Amino acid sequence: MMRHLPLGIFIGLLAIGPLVLPEFTITLANYIGLYAIVAVGLVLLTGVGGLTSFGQAAFVGLGAYTTAYLTTVHGVSPWLTLLIGLAITAAVALFLGFITLRMGGHYLPLGTIAWGISLYFLFGNLEFLGGHTGISGIPTISLFGLELKSSRSFYYLIWVVVLLAILALRNLLDSRQGRAIRALKGGTVMAEAMGVNTPQVKIVIFLIAALLASVSGWLYAHLQRFVNPTPFGLNQGIEYLFMAVIGGIGHVWGAVLGAGLITILKQWLQDWLPQILGQSGNFEIIVFGIAMIIVLQRARDGLWPALLKLLPVRAIKHSIPHGEILPKRPSTAAGTLLLKADDVTKRFGGLVANDGLSLTVNAGEVMALIGPNGAGKSTMFNCISGLSPASEGKIAFLGQSTVATVSRDIARQGMSRTFQHVRLLGQMSVLENVAIGGHLRGSKGIVAAALRLDRAEENRLLAEAARQIERVGLAEQMFEPAGSLALGQQRIVEIARALCSDPCLLLLDEPAAGLRYLEKQALAELLGKLRSEGMGILLVEHDMDFVMELADRVVVMEFGKKIAEGLPAEIQRDPKVLEAYLGGVE
Ligand code: ADP
Ligand code: MG
Repeated sequence: MMRHLPLGIFIGLLAIGPLVLPEFTITLANYIGLYAIVAVGLVLLTGVGGLTSFGQAAFVGLGAYTTAYLTTVHGVSPWLTLLIGLAITAAVALFLGFITLRMGGHYLPLGTIAWGISLYFLFGNLEFLGGHTGISGIPTISLFGLELKSSRSFYYLIWVVVLLAILALRNLLDSRQGRAIRALKGGTVMAEAMGVNTPQVKIVIFLIAALLASVSGWLYAHLQRFVNPTPFGLNQGIEYLFMAVIGGIGHVWGAVLGAGLITILKQWLQDWLPQILGQSGNFEIIVFGIAMIIVLQRARDGLWPALLKLLPVRAIKHSIPHGEILPKRPSTAAGTLLLKADDVTKRFGGLVANDGLSLTVNAGEVMALIGPNGAGKSTMFNCISGLSPASEGKIAFLGQSTVATVSRDIARQGMSRTFQHVRLLGQMSVLENVAIGGHLRGSKGIVAAALRLDRAEENRLLAEAARQIERVGLAEQMFEPAGSLALGQQRIVEIARALCSDPCLLLLDEPAAGLRYLEKQALAELLGKLRSEGMGILLVEHDMDFVMELADRVVVMEFGKKIAEGLPAEIQRDPKVLEAYLGGVE
């Protein structure tokens, strides 16, 4: 297994480290490990999930202070205080998460700064926590009857935690739940449309990152056997983020690399810079500031990807996943009314994008919605799929009103869609993108994924995704990054993703745009087949030959209003349509 050789060498070196390295180096390695645990959490939260936090040091403090206080004042066993610390951290993180994670853009990082500072001052001002002097005399911890007194013995505990955190996180990211987390980066719209509960996913990754920080704090307290507020302030919070970014915030191992580089560099600079400059001061901070700017300019992905290129890691050989067939939802008989939109109006301020629009879609038919650019077709799609609810009017899907239903719940009921402006995760493979569509067809949670107890389900989901990819004719591109495909093909990937959810109603927004003639024919054939299997399809498309050949019924709209409805042949002869659509030219 050449692929695991570098990892094996790394773990081997880690294991023999304490036997050969001097005390000072071991201490440094311990700190690197402690920082790496926090930085791994930031990779998940910020690198993968796109939620920037400057406040992680405060969670480290919660873990450290909980054990410091309970072990010294109340004599509680350190292993129990670990659990209590995790519980307290979880409670605080849930509370902070609920109030800050809803904030978008730069408000979230500002929010994390705010509570990062607040917790720091809380540690410093609570008298029972020793104020700014802190708490000393924290006991050592024992493991299997062995007292971890020396930094050499502590070293193993720290690095086992680091490796376990990395293993669990890697497992998690390579799963259905992991895809849902990774989907956050593409914005919440697509993830929600595929059934992902994005507020919940955000809270979960926030919680995981906070818990990892708390564990690091617990270890820190028992390694140092003394705590004060200094290492849990905003400065340290920023430094954790530095570590993750410089190491490579999108990569689990980047956290270790970043923690190692910054810690060693800091030590080195602290020793040498004052000597070189002839005066004392925190000059290393300035160097870090500059280094950060260079990394952000030159290597946004951090140093890990660059290092990876030097390692003899060979390309993974992919094989098409196999697994049992997932259960399908009971099919709806052709002709059943699937969707009924009544008098739907959608306003954007003063602009009326949909104006009293009504339409229906039945099982086993292709209904085309056509009209000039800006007529309001995509807006109608967004109203129907729950992405942006209608201002007025009624929409019922399978006989139930969806007026108050969020898009992920509409997706659960069997509606799926594609987007006019493709929403794929460009760095993820076509297979993984399509598998996001199957999110609601799995049930395994975060813990099961981290412990690899989800493999049977995962195989079924990936096999289903592979089948849908083969069905739309993209088998050859299955393992390529979705972003490397031609735009027309990316639209087809979106269809496969929608199909992966096993919908009974499919909403396709300009699926044929950018396709070549033969590809269009293949698409028409696929849609025809889906129709014959009883699926209802609502189609927006500009290619009139494509629409007229495929559609069973057509609704024409202009300026948000319906101007005609009927069979394709009738529509083609309708003078109002010719006027609106072709500008009156025959
Ligand atoms: P179509 O898909 O038929 O080309 P759209 O539904 O995209 O048309 O747009 C209809 C009208 O609504 C356009 O004038 C567009 O500028 C406007 N519009 C669409 N989305 C928004 C929005 N989120 N905010 C404001 N105006 C919008
Ligand atoms: Mg549109």
